[in-house]
Amino acid sequence: MKLETSVQFVKKVGEVRAALLSKAGIRNLDDLLRYPPMRYEDRTRLKPIASLEAEETAAVVARVAACGEHRAGPRRIRLFEAVAEDQSGRLALKFFNRPGLEKVLTRGVRGVFFGTIRYDKYSRGLALTNPEFEVLEEEDETGSPHIGRIVPVYRRISSLTPRILRTIISNALDALEKAGGRCQDPLPEELRRRYGFPSLPEAFRQLHFPQPGGARTEALLKQLEDMATPVQQRFIYEDLFAFQSAVQVVRSQRTRLRKGRRIELGEKERRTLKSILPFRPTRAQKRVLGEIVRDLARPEVMSRLLQGDVGSGKTIVALQAMAVAMENGYQAALMAPTEILAEQHWRSLSPLLHDRTRFRAGYLTSAVQGGQRENLLNDLKEGKIDLLIGTHALIEDPVDFHRLGMIVVDEQHRFGVMQRSRLMEKGPLPDVLVMTATPIPRSLALTLYGDLDLSVLDELPPGRRPVETVLAGEKKRAEIYRGLRRQIEKGRQAYVVYPLVEESEKVDLKAAVEMAAHLQEKVFPDLRVGLLHGRLKSDEKEAVMKDFVAGRYHILVSTTVIEVGVDVPNASIMVIEHAERFGLSQLHQLRGRIGRGSHDSYCVLMIGPKVGQKARQRLLIMRESNDGFEIAEKDLELRGPGEFIGTRQSGLPEFAFANLVRDRQWVSRSHQDARHFIEESLRREGGDRQRLLKRLKALFKGRLPLARVG
Ligand code: ADP
Ligand code: MG
Repeated sequence: MKLETSVQFVKKVGEVRAALLSKAGIRNLDDLLRYPPMRYEDRTRLKPIASLEAEETAAVVARVAACGEHRAGPRRIRLFEAVAEDQSGRLALKFFNRPGLEKVLTRGVRGVFFGTIRYDKYSRGLALTNPEFEVLEEEDETGSPHIGRIVPVYRRISSLTPRILRTIISNALDALEKAGGRCQDPLPEELRRRYGFPSLPEAFRQLHFPQPGGARTEALLKQLEDMATPVQQRFIYEDLFAFQSAVQVVRSQRTRLRKGRRIELGEKERRTLKSILPFRPTRAQKRVLGEIVRDLARPEVMSRLLQGDVGSGKTIVALQAMAVAMENGYQAALMAPTEILAEQHWRSLSPLLHDRTRFRAGYLTSAVQGGQRENLLNDLKEGKIDLLIGTHALIEDPVDFHRLGMIVVDEQHRFGVMQRSRLMEKGPLPDVLVMTATPIPRSLALTLYGDLDLSVLDELPPGRRPVETVLAGEKKRAEIYRGLRRQIEKGRQAYVVYPLVEESEKVDLKAAVEMAAHLQEKVFPDLRVGLLHGRLKSDEKEAVMKDFVAGRYHILVSTTVIEVGVDVPNASIMVIEHAERFGLSQLHQLRGRIGRGSHDSYCVLMIGPKVGQKARQRLLIMRESNDGFEIAEKDLELRGPGEFIGTRQSGLPEFAFANLVRDRQWVSRSHQDARHFIEESLRREGGDRQRLLKRLKALFKGRLPLARVG
C-alpha cells in the first residue's frame, strides 16, 4: 500500500465503490486521504440522556424503543417520531418529511443522534428535531472509528454515506501504517519545519481522527471548527503552495526568456516623458513609473500588475512607460476590455502623442474593417504606427507588429493566471503591464495575478473631493430628481445606472430602456436623456458616448457597461438603481465615474423596498469609505472570492482546504515561499523547466493546474 495505490484495494472498497469514488475525483489513497471532513463530532464522552440540557448540541448514543409515522399539523406534514432510550432515560426524536425513514430507524436499532437539544412542548420534554444520525452496528464499541472519539463527518459521495467513508478512510490509514507509513511529502522539509507542520502520515491520521492529546476536547473541537489545528493549516498551506508553485512555473516560463532588447531611460526619454505629461504626476505615479522603467531595462521580460484606486491615474503612467519603449525604437500596444474604453483611451491619448511627439497612434477594434483595417495592419507591420490602441481582440487574432516591445492590458479582473499566460505567450515576448480596473484585495491579487510583480498607486491626484454618498428609498425619489435637476442647471451632467445581471438580463435591459423613456418623457421632458447598454451596436454605443462627452446629453441612463474607466469629468451626480444588487467594489468602480472634475459630486444608492438590514449595512460601507482598497477587503469578506470576482471566467482555483478570505496570511507566505522554491529548483535543475515540471507533477499529483501549462 502506497499513496499511489488505487482505492479499489482498500478494505471495504472494491470495484463498485471505487467507481463511485472515482467519479468524485478520488482514485488513489492520496486522493482519499485528502478528502476533507466536513465537520467533526464529539463522540468522546457520550452524554447519558438524563444529563442532557435544553439548547446544548450533543451526540447521543441510544436505542430506538418505539417509532411511528403520522401526519401532523394543519398542513398534514409527514412526521416520523421515535423514542430513543439509553440506560439513563428517554429522548424524543422528530423527523419531518423524511419518507423511508421507517425502514432505517426500526425498533431496537442503535444509533448516534446529533443535533441541538430543545424543549418540545408537545412531548413536554427534551427532543431532537431533524437530528443527523448514524446507525451503529453491534460491533461498534470504543476503539472503532465511529465511536468513543472525535469523529469526522464527511460530505456524502453518491451512495457512500459519511459512515462508509469513515470506515474506508480508517482502513486506508491502517493499511498505510502497516506498510510502514512512508510517503513522499510534497512540502519541502525546510518549509514544514519552519511552520511546525506535522509529517504527512501523521497529518493524514490527525486530519481524520484528531486526538486531543493533552488539550481539552472542547478546545480541540473549537480549533477544528476554525480550521486552525496545525494539521489543517498544513493542508491549507499545501493547497496554496501547490497552486503558487504552478503559478511561479508560469512566471518562470516568461522570465527565463531573455527578451533581447534593452529599453533605457536616457535624456531623450526624459524629455519625451515631460512633454507628454499634461499635469504634475503624483509621488505614487513617479514611483510606479520608476518600477516599470526598471523592468523595461532588465534582460528578463516584464510581467507587472499595476493596481490603483479608481481615478488614481493609471492610464498616464502606462502611456509614459510606453513612450519610453517607443523612444527606444519599439512599438507598444494598449488593450482595453470594451470598445467604449478603447475608444476613450484613443481619444485621450492619441492627441497627447500626436501633438507633443513624433509618434503615431493607431486604433483597432473588431469594428474597424475593410480597407481601413488593411491599411492599419500594413502600417503596423511596417512600423509606421508606434502605439496601437484597441480591444482585447487585438491579441486574440494575431496582429503583425514591426517591433513590438510592450503591451499594456487594461482589464477587469476576469483573467486568471492560466488564461493570461496563454494570451501573453502568443507572439514574441513583449514586456507586459496589466492594470486592474479597481483594487482587489491582496490575497486575491496574489492568486489571480501571482505570476506578476505588483505595483500600487496608493495616492489620488490632488484636488479630488470625495463623492458624497447617500442611501435612498423609493419615498425619496422625487427629491432625488430635484437634486439631479439642480446639478444639471449648474451645468453638470448625470448618470442613472441600472444593474444588469446575467440571469435576468432581458428583464433588466427592458427596465433600463423603460426608465430612459420614462425619465425623458415624464420627468425631464426639457432635458436630453441618452441610453447606453451592451446590446447596442458598437457604433451606436460610440455615438451615445460621444454625445455625452460633448455635453449633448444631460443624463445618461446606462447599464453597467459604464462601469469600467469611463472618464467624463463634468458628470457630478450618479443615481444607482437597485444598489443592493451590486457588489461593493462594483459600486465603488461605478461611483468612480463621478468626482473626476473639481465639482462637488453625489452618488445616490437607490434601494428597493424589500432590502433587509444586512444588505443595508453593507451599503452603508459605501457612505463611510471612499477608499477602494478598504472597500475591496470588506466586499471580499462579505461576499467571498467567487462573488467578488464574478463567477463567469473568474479564473479562481478551487481548493480543498484553503479559503482565500480566511487564510490570507498563508496566501502571502505561500506565494513568497513558492517563488523562492521554484527559483531555487530551477537553478538546481540547471534551468531545465521540463524536469522541474515533471518533478512538480510527481509531488503534487493531480492537484496542480500544470497540465495546461506544461
Ligand atoms: P484610473 O486609474 O482609474 O484609470 P485615469 O488614468 O483614468 O484613472 O485618471 C483619472 C483622471 O485623473 C484622468 O482624467 C486623468 O487625466 C487625471 N489625472 C491622472 N493623473 C493626474 C495627476 N497627477 N494630476 C491631475 N490629474 C491627473
Ligand atoms: Mg482606467
